[in-house]
Amino acid sequence: MKVEANRVVRFHYTLSEAGREVESSRDGEPLAVLFGRGGLIDGVENALSGREAGERFEVEVSPEEGYGPRRPELTQRVPKKHFKGMPLRVGQTVMMQTDHGPRPITILKAGLSVVDVDLNHPMAGKTLRFDIEIIEVREATAVELDHGHVHGPGGVDHH
Ligand code: ZN
Repeated sequence: MKVEANRVVRFHYTLSEAGREVESSRDGEPLAVLFGRGGLIDGVENALSGREAGERFEVEVSPEEGYGPRRPELTQRVPKKHFKGMPLRVGQTVMMQTDHGPRPITILKAGLSVVDVDLNHPMAGKTLRFDIEIIEVREATAVELDHGHVHGPGGVDHH
């Protein structure tokens, strides 16, 4: 069965950037997504489309098909009180509440009363390499299609 819209695909991936491993699903459960519903970056979605369980491949994803270009104007100076209790190491990525919900930000510089942060996605502007192995492709259930997400292993469990 091929990967296509409204099917469930479960796959392992290892993400590398500039030759270094950034994250991997391989020490846990494979990722499970309802395909074609926008849960994946374009480069990964395009690479998975039409493939079948058992296939293992690598794909290089440009920023345009990944997390977008890095936008220099997305750096901000924030009062330090917003970081109460957080360790502030330069280069570190932390989750911060913003007007648009929680998002990862990167610490650029920590002063006495203000912190310079980068609101770009940590992977923005970067060329990413994914090593992907498709574990399973199956039809989504009617309930999964209705909810817009996967149930069971690697998905949402709320029954
Ligand atoms: Zn659900």
